[in-house]
Amino acid sequence: MKHFDAIIIGTGQAGPSLAARFAGAGKTVAIIERNKFGGTCVNTGCIPTKTLVASAYAIHVARRGAEYGFATGDVRVDIKRVKARKDAVSGRSNKGVEDWLRGTKNCTVIQGHARFQSTNTVVVNDEVLQAGQIFINVGGRASVPDMPGVHEVPFLTNSSMMDIDFLPEHLIVVGGSYVGLEFAQMYRRFGSQVTIVEMGPRLIGREDEDISQAVREILEAEGIQIRLNAKCISLAKRDSGVVVRMDCNDDPKEVAGTHVLLAVGRLPNTSDLGLDRAGIATDRRGYITVDDQLQTNVPGIWALGDCNGRGAFTHTSYNDYEIVADNLFNADHRRVSDRIQAYALYIDPPLGRCGMTDAEIRTSGRRALVAKYPMVRVSRAYEKGETQGFIKICVDAETEQILGAAILGIGGDEVIHVLLDVMYAKAPYTVIQRAMHIHPTVAEYLPTILAKLEPFV
Ligand SMILES: Cc1cc2nc3c(=O)[nH]c(=O)nc-3n(C[C@H](O)[C@H](O)[C@H](O)COP(=O)(O)OP(=O)(O)OC[C@H]3O[C@@H](n4cnc5c(N)ncnc54)[C@H](O)[C@@H]3O)c2cc1C
Repeated sequence: MKHFDAIIIGTGQAGPSLAARFAGAGKTVAIIERNKFGGTCVNTGCIPTKTLVASAYAIHVARRGAEYGFATGDVRVDIKRVKARKDAVSGRSNKGVEDWLRGTKNCTVIQGHARFQSTNTVVVNDEVLQAGQIFINVGGRASVPDMPGVHEVPFLTNSSMMDIDFLPEHLIVVGGSYVGLEFAQMYRRFGSQVTIVEMGPRLIGREDEDISQAVREILEAEGIQIRLNAKCISLAKRDSGVVVRMDCNDDPKEVAGTHVLLAVGRLPNTSDLGLDRAGIATDRRGYITVDDQLQTNVPGIWALGDCNGRGAFTHTSYNDYEIVADNLFNADHRRVSDRIQAYALYIDPPLGRCGMTDAEIRTSGRRALVAKYPMVRVSRAYEKGETQGFIKICVDAETEQILGAAILGIGGDEVIHVLLDVMYAKAPYTVIQRAMHIHPTVAEYLPTILAKLEPFV
């Protein structure tokens, strides 16, 4: 048996930083990875998809050359080169994580599948490792629901999408939420015919209705077909392609395509971790139950990142690391409940999001104010010829603090941080109106928009 001060399972967005923190404090740490270093974000999530989104954006702008005063001739997409660029960017990060960990003194890197043997031991490659503190950062994977026909067709997920170096003639995306919409728009821009099939009555169902509607219009304007209310989805082979049926009645509606991507949610990688051997509790979906400082029900064992169900983003996983590290090393009692929800959807234009949704504000029963402003009236957007979307900000009528905001439009993923930081400062929105902003930017409109607050209904 090998002894360490700490064992970390998984090299996602929390594990490597935590390993470096332990090692830097002079403690011995073992970090275990069964697949690719860097986990989802680096290999099959944020980094490769945002690299592909960048290619799709460049292609889209090139096609609009005439509007900007240039001609390129026919824009021809070389999908193999698009993929090669994605592989290079993603591979650089993957190598960066591995090199960093292997080069860290006091840190032992082990490749293999880890399983708990007891509350303080883990088995990997038939070797038993023991530590007083164990951190689980095992992330998640695409969920493959048991819909009829699913195992009879060669479906794709966000992971297998990373390997394709050809252009699907007609890509059917099952799932109209964050992952599905990004793939749908990028493949449409690469040149595929694309149909989104969504079970719910609107796209990205947890967003406000006006956001869902605007996103739908943006995607439809690019020629993406959207089929909503697909209550009862089944898959079948047809010729060399696949058919997705969308209704349970006797005359099923269907769409036939060449490839199908399943983007219908994520599952935590916890079922093959031997959690029962250590007595670690999960919820009914398999997410590890943690307290406000990310400790599991077993003393000495923590769970960070997607596997704890408290976040589903790279920044929430990294923030989990910060919370655990500050609690352990700095006696700074940070808590998960202190953080404010924030994320982006990387279609073009992007959606930057922070704080409460309209529905959450309504449920909270607060008296709120709201201001909404179309991007077409933002001169920066107009100058750049990218005027889709809007900015919406909600504030508490009593405290004047910002409750939530959505910026669907050019730069939305960046500008949202102006509002987010004011929220963390617990300052009233009026501080934004006293700041001098740079012209021409999207952010310079925030004071103007906040001057238009009216009752939220
Ligand atoms: C297509 C897509 C796009 C995304 N885009 C964004 C985005 O733009 N922005 C954003 O913030 N988030 C995005 N996300 C979400 C983001 O990728 C994840 O939230 C983030 O990677 C979570 O990281 P994690 O630390 O929980 O673990 P992961 O990154 O999932 O890593 C877990 C690691 O643990 C390893 N592991 C699992 N089980 C074991 C075991 N038993 N033994 C050893 N190793 C094990 C896995 O191999 C993996 O390497 C995206 C996700 C997807 C799927």
